[in-house]
Amino acid sequence: MGNYLFSNYARKPFEIMEGNGCYVTDNHGKKYLDFTSGIGVMNLGYNRAHLNQVLAEQAQKIWHTPNLYENHLQEVVAEKLIQEKDYLAFFCNSGAEANEAAIKLARKATGKSQIITFTNSFHGRTYGAMSATGQSAIHTGFEPLVPGFIYVPYNDFSALQEQISDQTAAIMLELIQGEGGVTVANQEWIQQIVTLCQEKKILLIVDEVQTGIGRTGSLFAFEQFGIEPDIFTLAKGLGNGFPIGAMLGKTALGEAFGPGSHGTTFGGNKLGMVVASEILDSLSSEILVASQQRSQQLFAGLNKIKSDKISEIRGKGLMIGIELQPDISVAEIVEDLEAEGLLALRAGANTLRLLPPLIISEEEVTLGLEKLTKVLEK
Ligand SMILES: *Cc1c(COP(=O)(O)O)cnc(C)c1O
Repeated sequence: MGNYLFSNYARKPFEIMEGNGCYVTDNHGKKYLDFTSGIGVMNLGYNRAHLNQVLAEQAQKIWHTPNLYENHLQEVVAEKLIQEKDYLAFFCNSGAEANEAAIKLARKATGKSQIITFTNSFHGRTYGAMSATGQSAIHTGFEPLVPGFIYVPYNDFSALQEQISDQTAAIMLELIQGEGGVTVANQEWIQQIVTLCQEKKILLIVDEVQTGIGRTGSLFAFEQFGIEPDIFTLAKGLGNGFPIGAMLGKTALGEAFGPGSHGTTFGGNKLGMVVASEILDSLSSEILVASQQRSQQLFAGLNKIKSDKISEIRGKGLMIGIELQPDISVAEIVEDLEAEGLLALRAGANTLRLLPPLIISEEEVTLGLEKLTKVLEK
């Protein structure tokens, strides 16, 4: 279409113009049921009246104040994220920025430089976050990377143990690798990592940018693993489309981030903070419980699909991956689904990824399953 933009995105030939609940409409007037949530962002769906309202109200008061002055809205959102736990929060504008803050905090607090991350991880596109990402396709042409990152296979404890040294500052991971193909961490492996981190005084950083804010059936995925990371990061669902990120770290790490140590102009912006605050109020236990029921319905329906295109179905909550056989093109499946009026994503080498809004209804899941069944059984 246009001539003025870098071609760093392979864009589809349609534009989404409007959204409502779990549906979006494109520039040709075609309506789609959205099983992408705008890549894990629109957890509460499109055009949510209360979010529109708080954003419009704040817009008429003030949009921006620098972080030179107090910001009670940041305190409000931090308190809602932390609940009664022992964390401090830093607000920024994206997932990559949240991970940059996590990497910087880990190095400064430990005085060590090495961070272990995992093959097929995804942590963002800025230099630190990209260097943390264990995918050579994302690194190619951008070297030299930030030094100090070591990549080891996911869900493999002995490979990890071999890389631990007295320079290890942190282990950084996603509890479900999203972009990498919807790979769920093994519970026992996570327990082994937590124990190792305690023994060796290594920080555990959990990247909850995609898994957080209800995506996997609880506010944070780490709750389901029964752990409390030293540092965790959020973005995507935290703003439901308003750009915002957050890094939370244990209170004991606070000294490393004293005045002047780190910062951002827009981070914790008042527009973003009123939206995040309303999201955390809206994301009630009823919505989480209903999303778990929709997850069960979706998994049950997917497991009934009779298709030799499918090799494995995995995930948690409403973060679901359907790995296809190597000879099946996931791009073509996504296109066929779009023709049927369903938006879906790809992940990893050959995985069809589903991230519907958490507010999806039983009828909408049934409709989505009909479309998936039709395309996958074709
Ligand atoms: C999307 C994503 C990021 C990057 O977030 P941006 O807001 O695009 O910078 C980082 N980590 C994970 C796990 C993600 O899914």
